Amino acid sequence: MPDYQMLIDTLYNTVKDNHTGTIASYIPQLAKADPNWFGIAIVTIDGDVYQAGDATHQFSVQSVSKAFTYGMALADNGRANVLKKVAVEPVGKTFNAIILDAASARPPNPMINAGAIAIGDLIKGENLAEKLNRLLAMFKTYIGHDVYLDGAVFASERLTGFRNRAIANLLKASHVIEGDVDQALEFYFQQCSLSVTALGLATMAATLANHGINPITRNRALQATYVRDVLSVMHSCGMYDSSGEWAYRVGIPAKSGVSGGIIGVVPNQFGVAVFSPPLDDKGHSVRGVQVLEALSEELCLHIFDGCDDA
Ligand code: GLN
Repeated sequence: MPDYQMLIDTLYNTVKDNHTGTIASYIPQLAKADPNWFGIAIVTIDGDVYQAGDATHQFSVQSVSKAFTYGMALADNGRANVLKKVAVEPVGKTFNAIILDAASARPPNPMINAGAIAIGDLIKGENLAEKLNRLLAMFKTYIGHDVYLDGAVFASERLTGFRNRAIANLLKASHVIEGDVDQALEFYFQQCSLSVTALGLATMAATLANHGINPITRNRALQATYVRDVLSVMHSCGMYDSSGEWAYRVGIPAKSGVSGGIIGVVPNQFGVAVFSPPLDDKGHSVRGVQVLEALSEELCLHIFDGCDDA
């Protein structure tokens, strides 16, 4: 087995001096982040944990949550019903694009905001409180401990989420959202505001790498058949309009978020998460991308790699 600790310590030390990128400011609470925050965590499918830097620093999960709410919607409704509402096509547009498929009026995929807001409407629950409780319980199963909502981030998102409001209203007008449009938005802002750490996200990623079973608690978070679907859309759409290049260069399913978190899933091996707030022009953590690229190269993780035959 590779010496994961040595590997992430080395990566931490080489990547920490990369000071490029810009912290997201369109959600005012996120602008308060320190550009030097940087943490890496790996959790293997055997439940071994490795961490470097600020791996236990709390931050809001943002769009990394989209992979997990997609799994939850699949478990709640079944694949066919979810596909009727949200397609699985990469779109080559920014995460907040106001876009629906021309023919079917569905959002193109669940990894961009339009798709994720529609997915939230599919999560079961009598009311918003019950949906939030189910979301928190789902996160808890993946992470292995209680998860809380960051109230300041939630308030900040909701006060400034004009574009997401426009998207949600378009979804309602197009009959993608069947329930209450404000409830769908509130749920989306809540899911983005859940507080996590790189260590927690690595455990969530490791659960996906382990076909849905948390490798530390051994509790199942998602059926394996839906893990397959989640990883497929992460692979094709998880990095927004750089998903194609990501699949080409890195070759592992990943999901990033605007607070600087990013996860990578290496099925049957491990989950990795990086947290570092400065972002590139596509909205991905600069240091996160650098770490995952280097890991993929170093450990020969690209799904189409043939390192043994080289
Ligand atoms: N809450 C953010 C938004 O809706 C999530 C976007 C992201 O992480 N890329 O704009």
